[in-house]
Amino acid sequence: MTLLALNEEAAMPQDRPKDRGIVSSLWAQTACRAPAGIQALRGDIEVDVVVIGGGYTGLSSALHLAERGSSVAVLEARSVGFGASGRNGGQVNPGFKLDPHQAPGRFGAAAGERALNFVGSAPDLVFELISRFSMDCHAMRPGSVTPAHSEAALQMLERRAEGWMARGVPIKMLSREETERAIGSPCYVGGLLDPRGGSLQPLSYARELARAAMEKGASIFDNAEVQSLQRKDKGWIVRTSTGTAKATNVIVATNGYTGNLIGGLRQTIIAANSFQLATAPLDDATAAGILAQGRTASDTRRLVLYFRKDPANRLVIGGRGQFGDPTRPEDFSHLRGAFARLFPQLSGIPIEHNWAGRVALTQDGVPHLHEPEKGLLVAVGYNGRGIAMGTAMGRAIADYLGGDAQALPFPVTPIQGIPFHMFQRLYLAAAINWFMFRDAF
Ligand SMILES: Cc1cc2nc3c(=O)[nH]c(=O)nc-3n(C[C@H](O)[C@H](O)[C@H](O)COP(=O)(O)OP(=O)(O)OC[C@H]3O[C@@H](n4cnc5c(N)ncnc54)[C@H](O)[C@@H]3O)c2cc1C
Repeated sequence: MTLLALNEEAAMPQDRPKDRGIVSSLWAQTACRAPAGIQALRGDIEVDVVVIGGGYTGLSSALHLAERGSSVAVLEARSVGFGASGRNGGQVNPGFKLDPHQAPGRFGAAAGERALNFVGSAPDLVFELISRFSMDCHAMRPGSVTPAHSEAALQMLERRAEGWMARGVPIKMLSREETERAIGSPCYVGGLLDPRGGSLQPLSYARELARAAMEKGASIFDNAEVQSLQRKDKGWIVRTSTGTAKATNVIVATNGYTGNLIGGLRQTIIAANSFQLATAPLDDATAAGILAQGRTASDTRRLVLYFRKDPANRLVIGGRGQFGDPTRPEDFSHLRGAFARLFPQLSGIPIEHNWAGRVALTQDGVPHLHEPEKGLLVAVGYNGRGIAMGTAMGRAIADYLGGDAQALPFPVTPIQGIPFHMFQRLYLAAAINWFMFRDAF
């Protein structure tokens, strides 16, 4: 196995000296350059809105607020796209954990439809922004496949398809043979093809969102870890080690990288690692047999396995793993095992990249919005589906702060920690074992 050197521009949090050679991100190696104009925060600034976190949620908030005429500063602890936004699978998926028939029961009829409309149309916004700002991020939208790992999962997909079709989405169910032909793996009993899905280069998309936000007037600061937030008069004082920002409103968009800035927030999510690997480029004949139309796939297992090709025909496959950051090559062995089972025809193909990033899981599986004080808005918990949802959440937050009280797609809830959160590592290990057991059926 060849492991490539880390790209320093997008250094990973696991980039401690002892981890060098274990983590090598495909996206860091192949991304477009970070835009010029990202600054270091020195001294004091004053803006309408400070955004904490330079991932899709924060950058999309900044872009849409700037388009509305607000002055905005994004403060990112490391570099734009350092978090999950620069490390994910690049699958632009519609939907969230709840299926159409479940959302009204969870939120109420009208709010359930609003939530469904939000998650169903979120990919439209991603591709519209990419087109409007001519973003260089290898975007394509040939649809996404959800392959079913069991007959029970296939029935669940049929119900999901009915729900979306009743709302006008031309979903297609695939037979076992059609699924195998579409994705190139013999391991599934059928599947669902959703035309709303697509893919992109995730770190490039984050950097291009930053460029678009700056073109519209937002300021972006990196190496600007926010250390404290303090209420002052009708606004906020936001402090980093090198400067201070004064703002009327603050947006917290730190997701799986949330620290202790807002009391109790870290305890509302489980920040679990998702792992990925990428093969060497496949030759044309082999590549033609796997996801031939450039579609993406994300399966029905509780411990989801997701895969796609990149423009150089590398197969990129991801899945949940241990709780902590990877520190040894063996930390990726579960994924190499899954890869070998799903694509036996690729045995002998070298794996050239391994990396991981943190997703924010919520107990109820849906994103959480909090407004603990006036002018302080928090959005976290995309449960591994934040490319479209985070982008659309950013626009919704901008609309909300712009005066549209109905703009937020989910209810604003109090910050409420997961009971016994200090045992999250144990929770997750137990859940993973249980899910592995269930996924076997
Ligand atoms: C391996 C992996 C695969 C995934 N695959 C997919 C996929 O295929 N499709 C999909 O839709 N979703 C996927 N996701 C989920 C998706 O990437 C996330 O939901 C999304 O990127 C979240 O964006 P965000 O802006 O909310 O948070 P993030 O991108 O995580 O950004 C949070 C940022 O906050 C910064 N920060 C934290 N604390 C501070 C502070 N005090 N001051 C300043 N900055 C701070 C961090 O440095 C970080 O950059 C995946 C995630 C991972 C990790």
